[in-house]
Amino acid sequence: HARRLEGIDKNIWVEFTQLAADYQAVNLGQGFPDFAPPKFLQEAFCKAVSGGGLMHQYTRAFGHPSLVTILAQLFGRLVGHEIQPLEDVLVTIGAYQALFCTFQALVDEGDEVIIIEPFFDCYQPMVKMAGGKQVYMPLRPRGGSNLSSGDWVLCAEELASKFTAKTKAIVINTPNNPTGKVYKTEELQVIADLCIKHDVVCISDEVYEWLTYDGAKHVKIASLAGMWERTVTIGSAGKTFSATGLKVGWAIGPSRLIKHLKTVHQNSIYHCPTAAQVAVAEGFQTEYDRLGHPESYFQQLPTLFTHKRNKLAACLEIAGLRPTLPEGGYFMIADISSVSFDSDDSISQDEPLDYRFVKWLIKKKGLAAIPVSAFYSPEHGKEVQNYVRFCFTKVEEKGLQLIRHRYVSL
Ligand code: PMP
Ligand code: GLN
Repeated sequence: HARRLEGIDKNIWVEFTQLAADYQAVNLGQGFPDFAPPKFLQEAFCKAVSGGGLMHQYTRAFGHPSLVTILAQLFGRLVGHEIQPLEDVLVTIGAYQALFCTFQALVDEGDEVIIIEPFFDCYQPMVKMAGGKQVYMPLRPRGGSNLSSGDWVLCAEELASKFTAKTKAIVINTPNNPTGKVYKTEELQVIADLCIKHDVVCISDEVYEWLTYDGAKHVKIASLAGMWERTVTIGSAGKTFSATGLKVGWAIGPSRLIKHLKTVHQNSIYHCPTAAQVAVAEGFQTEYDRLGHPESYFQQLPTLFTHKRNKLAACLEIAGLRPTLPEGGYFMIADISSVSFDSDDSISQDEPLDYRFVKWLIKKKGLAAIPVSAFYSPEHGKEVQNYVRFCFTKVEEKGLQLIRHRYVSL
């Protein structure tokens, strides 16, 4: 095998999704809604697949014209910068491939990439495969009760100390997976100032951009002064329309950067499935015309998820798992330090506490979650092994009942 694959063969989703399936556990681990996407999206998809020959054939390499056009229109409005659909947008196989193209296109052997912890796990192997060196910058709990994801903060001086002459890029993720942190403008400004000062690219993973709660506001770092020119913003139709199986994503940024992502894309994937792109384009058109109105899905979904979030938090509290209330996204982390559990012989004692807890939870209680140290570098994972992550974008009954009754009573 190629050397660049060394040390990255394990994958948390492969491992825990399989374990959850083996034990037929209720899956509050992997992040996807277990309910149908909105009718208008389903109908758009049906229409696309039944829509004659062209929808079943190749299309433009870098994105179907209808999709890049509406993405440019919508995001141009949000960022406050005119976006050229054919130059500044690349449609990808989910946000995953947008991330992969970005790292492959922009990171060279020996370049340093700053990754803010906790981070969506794939950033680490993707930087490695590009030959880059990961430099980790942990968010730190503010101290005190840490009951909101907003209590996880970046230390500006510490972040500044991570920038060197070799720094090529910084990856941020807001709303964050797994904490739910939604970066405030002031926090983004600290990052932006450092990017500008050191001529660094910002890779901004915003797949949960429409999902913020309790008045938290999603801010695009590309909208800050001087940042459009140096930011690649990544999004996901799967998260936007509760249809994670669609695997339509995108990268948006200045053509001087996006053109290199296109080189990776044209030589690996070439283009994404046509019908799925057309369906997403139509979904966005529907939303564009009613943006900010109560009937907008982008208004309704956060309301639904706020309700689900609050219910899960209440259940976790009853079970003695102290939740940190997320301001955005799909997930909630919870502190497991005050619960005792007996991990048996099938669970290695060498594993971190959160891994052992989740394996026990799946095998003995029929409930799947994800250990939070999986979202950290090996160096820093030890500091967070008291946390596990739950996904709350699920039909409530099964998971909540398990936590409330089965877990609590044993
Ligand atoms: N980034 C983050 C933060 C995620 O949680 C995910 C998982 N959906 C992705 C990227 C990948 O998204 P997609 O399913 O569109 O490939
Ligand atoms: N983004 C989702 C999560 O964090 C799913 C990741 C995956 O399935 N690879 O749970």
